[in-house]
Amino acid sequence: MNNHERQARFREIREKVEAEQRLSLDEGIFLYDPQVPLQEVGELANLVRERKNGNVGYYNINTHLNPTNVCVYRCRFCAFRSDLRDPKGYAMSDEQILHRGQEAHENGCTEMHIVGGLHHQRPYEWYRHVIELLAENYPKIHLKAWTAVEINWFEFQTKKSIRWVLEDLQQAGLGSMPGGGAEIFHPEVRDQLCEHKANTHEWLKIHQTAHEVGLRTNCTMLYGHVEQAYHRIDHLIRLRELQDRTGGFQVFIPLAFHPENTKLSDIKKPSALMDLRTMAVSRLMLDNVQHVKAYWIMLGIETAQTALAYGADDIDGTVRHELIYHDAGATTPECLSVDQIRQLIQEAGREPVERDTVYNRVHRESQDLTDWTTGEPVAAG
Ligand code: SF4
Repeated sequence: MNNHERQARFREIREKVEAEQRLSLDEGIFLYDPQVPLQEVGELANLVRERKNGNVGYYNINTHLNPTNVCVYRCRFCAFRSDLRDPKGYAMSDEQILHRGQEAHENGCTEMHIVGGLHHQRPYEWYRHVIELLAENYPKIHLKAWTAVEINWFEFQTKKSIRWVLEDLQQAGLGSMPGGGAEIFHPEVRDQLCEHKANTHEWLKIHQTAHEVGLRTNCTMLYGHVEQAYHRIDHLIRLRELQDRTGGFQVFIPLAFHPENTKLSDIKKPSALMDLRTMAVSRLMLDNVQHVKAYWIMLGIETAQTALAYGADDIDGTVRHELIYHDAGATTPECLSVDQIRQLIQEAGREPVERDTVYNRVHRESQDLTDWTTGEPVAAG
């Protein structure tokens, strides 16, 4: 394709986006062509971002909890997992978990993000107990817990249905589900990364069932390893199709691969340009997902700030105790203060708004961090 043809193609895409029409697989792949100026793709994504979410940059006050890193699987991109007998391996006690809950409460967290390894000596009841323990002691904190990979493992452990597992966890206090474990759906790539864990069909089925039982979930894509543009767009379209059926995804989070300490450490980490292009293309393809998040832990603060003009409207949270990407070489700080996160959103020219996990506004009337209330849903686009 020559330059003239490329410009004509981009004009057609621009017209479709302006008319709020859906982009095709081929159009998505075209937008990944490095010859298509990133700046122009970003501008188009920003149009959608502002149409859907105005000038707001969302954040939340949250903490991470990884109750165990012992895992039966060996995903090639994972630097977090450990064997049972490895000195690095751990499983947290009730006291340690409650200590994290107390710390989250004192720091004004509205959410605990809970994921971990699949520990072959811990029964389903232990994972359920983690949720129940926190829900009973800190009922105000929203528990966003267990990826579809873990739910799939619980199905295997209990020999019960997905629906049974999810409803049982809801009874224990589960509030919503994170979007991890999606990686890249296309089997050409998935089989190279993580051939044993929940497959694409299972991941999508679990999220569909979660939506059916009333749980909102997030969705993700791990990019920048062995996949091509085709695999990324195929992935986004599979998410878009499920969202058409259920409407249960609240935010999409593109996750940049971090190679350090993984079995793919020979691969270079994606560049900031690839990060921004992926953010923008995701915003353009996922016309039915309200929010797109620039996860600062993974992207780095500067790229996350820039991403707020390339399709993202959310920057994630203050975050405490992040292990998964720091084990894989992330050099971002382990935690930002509320003032820091608000300032970096303001520096990007956006209005910072604190949200809770399911995108309600959070109101804080006093200096007391534990004194917060959940307000109205953030405006829908
Ligand atoms: S990504 Fe998750 S399932 Fe895969 S090895 Fe790491 S902890 Fe285990």
